[in-house]
Amino acid sequence: MYRITADHSDLSQELPDHLLRLHNPDDPNVKLVFAQMDLMHPGVNGTGLMLNVTKLPKEEAEKFRRSLEQREYSSYTSSLIPLQRSLPDIRLKGCHSLNTDLNLPETSVIIIFNNEHWSVLLRTIHSIMDNTPPHLIKEIILVDDASADEVLKEPLEEYVSRFSKVQILRAKSRQGLIRARMMGFEQSTAPVAVFMDAHCECFLGWLEPLVTRIAENQSIITTPNLHSVDSKSFQIHKWGQKKNIAIPVLTFPNLFFTWSSMSEEEWKKRKRETDPVRSPAMVGCVIAVSRSWFKKLGMFDPGLEIWGGENTELSIKTWLCGGGLEIIPCSNVAHMYHRHRSSEESDIIYTRNIARVSNVWLDKYKHFTDNYDGSIVDYGDISDRTALRDSLKCHPFEFYLTHVYPDQFIPGRGNYTGPIRNVEFRSYCIDSGGRENGHPVNVLLYSCHGQRHQLWDFTKRREIRIKRKCLDSEYGDNLVMRKCHGQRGNQEWEVVSLEGHVLLRSNGNCVGVTKDKSALVLEKCHSSPLQQWTWKQNMKPRIS
Ligand code: UDP
Ligand code: MN
Repeated sequence: MYRITADHSDLSQELPDHLLRLHNPDDPNVKLVFAQMDLMHPGVNGTGLMLNVTKLPKEEAEKFRRSLEQREYSSYTSSLIPLQRSLPDIRLKGCHSLNTDLNLPETSVIIIFNNEHWSVLLRTIHSIMDNTPPHLIKEIILVDDASADEVLKEPLEEYVSRFSKVQILRAKSRQGLIRARMMGFEQSTAPVAVFMDAHCECFLGWLEPLVTRIAENQSIITTPNLHSVDSKSFQIHKWGQKKNIAIPVLTFPNLFFTWSSMSEEEWKKRKRETDPVRSPAMVGCVIAVSRSWFKKLGMFDPGLEIWGGENTELSIKTWLCGGGLEIIPCSNVAHMYHRHRSSEESDIIYTRNIARVSNVWLDKYKHFTDNYDGSIVDYGDISDRTALRDSLKCHPFEFYLTHVYPDQFIPGRGNYTGPIRNVEFRSYCIDSGGRENGHPVNVLLYSCHGQRHQLWDFTKRREIRIKRKCLDSEYGDNLVMRKCHGQRGNQEWEVVSLEGHVLLRSNGNCVGVTKDKSALVLEKCHSSPLQQWTWKQNMKPRIS
């Protein structure tokens, strides 16, 4: 199963038997499953394997379930897919003639892992080896963040000993992803560093365009166009390209990223579809950065614990301190997004990390983030971080909102904000309603209570929104809450005045309420108070 077939000089030997037989107790009995399920070439060319568990022998089905439970992805399925597999060439047409410079700087790829499954980690390494010109890779540094899994100790060392460029560093105790990455970085020597999660697959030609852009401007951090590896079937899903490329943006109050679309302005500014796309934020799973720029920016904040916030910190500081962050459309990498088992402990660590970032970088806007005052959890000493910001003479956060991402949404900072009160029924407000298992919920009129389901913002993009959900005129008449898509259309509204009509721009219909106030409607505008709404104007942030 793990036999290596590529014609790669490093890989000419076949695997010794004991490595072929290596498995965790929950790995599949490969021969049995192949025979039983009639499997031919699962995973080839990025295809997936959706196992019909009911057809598996009982013991195997149990392993499958346990593997999903333990890893938050199906390592069982991953073990049935070759460690080395081809992916289709999905590069945009214009990419082939770009990035042909043979004198690009070398790269150190830094991959950290904590109990990653053997097959997933090795598939990541093979995909780098197979899809990158050897002269561009100086070294691949694996940092084991104190994994307990025995397979990742000697057997891993033996396996990678055939790749001359791969080295393994071991953390003595769990460092968390931020400090583990820095351990790898300290050890690395190439002028460009790539930080990559241990569950990625690279497409052909992924590295050259990332490095080309850095060679042009070393203070630009680059990231690929990300695609996904399905955490159950290991199918590669291609995401949007060209105009549909997905852009990570920050969300308040927790500064996590969410996906948005490219703004019209950005689309128009670019000359070719292969040109870099400015990105306000990053996911963090694949990042290329010049050694000197990363050092100048003070690397990651070493005070960030275990997981989370480092991608936000790096995004904000590269923008504020004179650099930038770009998605390079010619570079494609698939990352496995896996479920995170959130626990009270992990939530609190994230909240703590975010408070560090917002207190160092957000100026007065920190008031719109969680835990900015440390009231939920102490965020530690940040004085060396603020000193760094001062010494680099970075822009205030206002610069980010004006020049980097003017569409940044901050709840409570809309042009109009707060409850939307009906003029006929003055004690009634538009209420976004509760959730119903992921289904869009009908928006209704409800007595005003000023709680979160009634705290709206009318944004620059003319959305009427609460956090990530927008008022959406499904099919032009029904009013529901949907994830904000930033594409205007059925989420673009006009709020005529502080007391007046609220209408859908695409068809000019007004939001009103029925006479018995039982439902909200979108209908032809008239002058009745049933269609009049009052808002508060927001001149300043809620803070002074
Ligand atoms: N990781 C680590 N130590 C930790 C937590 C995470 O080495 O304490 C590694 C993990 O194995 C992965 C990377 O950090 O390679 C990013 O973590 P994860 O994929 O869970 O983050 P996500 O991509 O889901 O944000
Ligand atoms: Mn990841």
